[in-house]
Amino acid sequence: MSCYHYIYKLELLDENNVEIHNYFGKRSCSVNPEQDCRYMGSPKTAKEIIKNWPKERKKKIILEHHKNRISLGIAEEKIIRENIHDKPKNLNYAISGKNYYLTPEQLSEIGKKAYATALAKLTPEQRSENGKKGYESSLAKLTPEQLSEIGKKGGKKGYESSLAKLTPEQKSKIGKKGATKWLESSTPEERSEIAKKRATKWLESSTPEERSEIAKKGHITRKLKRMSANYTLETPQTKICSMCKKEKLFSQYNKKKDGKYNLSAECKECHNIKNKIYYYNKKEKLW
Ligand SMILES: [Zn+2]
Repeated sequence: MSCYHYIYKLELLDENNVEIHNYFGKRSCSVNPEQDCRYMGSPKTAKEIIKNWPKERKKKIILEHHKNRISLGIAEEKIIRENIHDKPKNLNYAISGKNYYLTPEQLSEIGKKAYATALAKLTPEQRSENGKKGYESSLAKLTPEQLSEIGKKGGKKGYESSLAKLTPEQKSKIGKKGATKWLESSTPEERSEIAKKRATKWLESSTPEERSEIAKKGHITRKLKRMSANYTLETPQTKICSMCKKEKLFSQYNKKKDGKYNLSAECKECHNIKNKIYYYNKKEKLW
């Protein structure tokens, strides 16, 4: 029968008798606590650490004596609550027989402290290596939206480095999104300017054969389009302008012999803008 009840503190010391870890527990035994030196605690989480600690550097201190197990339980809970956050020094993670465990916040706090301690022991090279690994693995978990957000914040550098890690499919997806966004936010003038630059660039860099090939292809495409348009039973009365991307009535387009529905690709409004830019540039060149 157990007739002695006590609270103990187990200290794990280093070579210089400095306390590295501690553990608080309760014990009920039939022998006088001062003679109960074989019992060194049986905590689940700290079991391995305590078990492997050199015997001569384990110190058990009896803190309190109690008359019964009820007051013993209350005293144990109190002392563990007081010491449980002293991590990594304290090895207690729960109160025996009670449903008291650490909250996620408390665990995170303990984790942070343990992380800081472990980090302090690393060399700058190890830290840099860990940092790189962590950065890459965290990047892999991000959505394209988050990557884009980081890119914006990190400026060109961040954007380029995160872009370098994307697959061609991801890049194309982002590219399409970017193009749509640009179309929505740009003016017809800006769009026309870009289109012109692209056409000029292509004209300058392509061979006569390539140009002729494209022209042929274009001719066939237009012919096919015209044919399919003729077969459409119900011809729509609106079409989308190739420049401003707005859906407009047929009356808003100039007539064009080989265009879809025999109409120009761009609306009258956009066509005028295009012409103005064309003549403006032509005039400038003459001067
Ligand atoms: Zn238009």
